[in-house]
Amino acid sequence: MTQVYTRTSEATLLAALIQPFAERAEIEYLYWIECFDETGVCHCLKCAEEYQEEQLIKRGIVAAPYTPIAVPEDLWINSSAGFEYDNPEHCVVCGVRLYHCLSDYAKQGEYAHFIENGIDLDPDDCYDLMDALCGWGSAFMPQENNDPKLELGFQKLRMQVEELIFAKYGDSDGRTTE
Ligand SMILES: [Zn+2]
Repeated sequence: MTQVYTRTSEATLLAALIQPFAERAEIEYLYWIECFDETGVCHCLKCAEEYQEEQLIKRGIVAAPYTPIAVPEDLWINSSAGFEYDNPEHCVVCGVRLYHCLSDYAKQGEYAHFIENGIDLDPDDCYDLMDALCGWGSAFMPQENNDPKLELGFQKLRMQVEELIFAKYGDSDGRTTE
């Protein structure tokens, strides 16, 4: 039997409220260097390229003008934002947040973390929660629909975010509450 899942209202409202803050977070695409493959070390592109260059110089592999160099396989830089990770990943060198998919396990962890600890309007926190809410209510995450405990948790977060926004930006008439 085909079942149609709809996004729950609290998760949707919460995501809409935090999106403008999440958009202020600094995010880079996720890359890894072949030699770190098994250890799950992630880089932003700038740091990956710097590491590669350093290693090439160390090994005496230097580009001559108009002569392409063969980069050894263990220094190849790869990327796939589509891979799922169990945690929000950061560049191991500069610490910038890296764009990637969270596994369902990771999403559950993020929900639990924010429901327990609350949230402020910090762009990084908003990004992490927004990222975890991404795909909410879709057919890919049907097991989470209509979970009353999560729904209550999202409601608590939504009310908290509303209060924070009101305190910071005032009501819809543009008046701020000092
Ligand atoms: Zn970096």
